Amino acid sequence: MIFCGNCEKRNGKIFLPYLKKYFCNACFIKIMRKRINRNIKHYKMLNNKKISFIFDGSAPSFVCFFHIFNLLGSRKDTSFTLLSTKKALKVAKEISKKYGVMVKEIKNLKLRKTKETIVLNDCLEDTCEKLIIAFAEKKLSLINEIKPRNGNLVRPLFNIPIKEIETLARLKNYNFLKYQQKNIYLNKINKVEEMRPGAKFSLVNLFESLF
Ligand SMILES: [Zn+2]
Repeated sequence: MIFCGNCEKRNGKIFLPYLKKYFCNACFIKIMRKRINRNIKHYKMLNNKKISFIFDGSAPSFVCFFHIFNLLGSRKDTSFTLLSTKKALKVAKEISKKYGVMVKEIKNLKLRKTKETIVLNDCLEDTCEKLIIAFAEKKLSLINEIKPRNGNLVRPLFNIPIKEIETLARLKNYNFLKYQQKNIYLNKINKVEEMRPGAKFSLVNLFESLF
């Protein structure tokens, strides 16, 4: 048995290669919660009384919603809406019924300027991918689009690896749809990450230091 690198008491089951340590389920959940809270606080992501979530049934969309709902759900003055894709609508309606939040179906993900805060599901890989496209294809306007907070659009998971988000979603028993790799540069980024664990973090840290 390998002991957890954090509590040093329980069985370490989840390996984080860039920390070179195993963690038990409870400590892993705690670490993830802290990281997401740090992002929310640092970028002042939740200063609004109206919060909408892009909900597509993916692990990031479950994690974003439940994390923030657990933080703020008891506030009577805050309203929550799931902006659900057609595919995820059935699950979104179940959540709506159970937790008393609103659901709206969205046809496409083109985001208009709205007053409410909109929570996006971008994870570390999405941030890396868009960052590389921005530089490689000289689409520098993209950089604004991937900031952790860009006006009313917020990305609480922008620096968290998809694998860890899916592990967390599994531990929480969310019945999520598998993340689809839609990205062109991602395979290359993943290869670099395999050789040098932590490479994706370095890229995003560099990005964060730019603004
Ligand atoms: Zn532990």
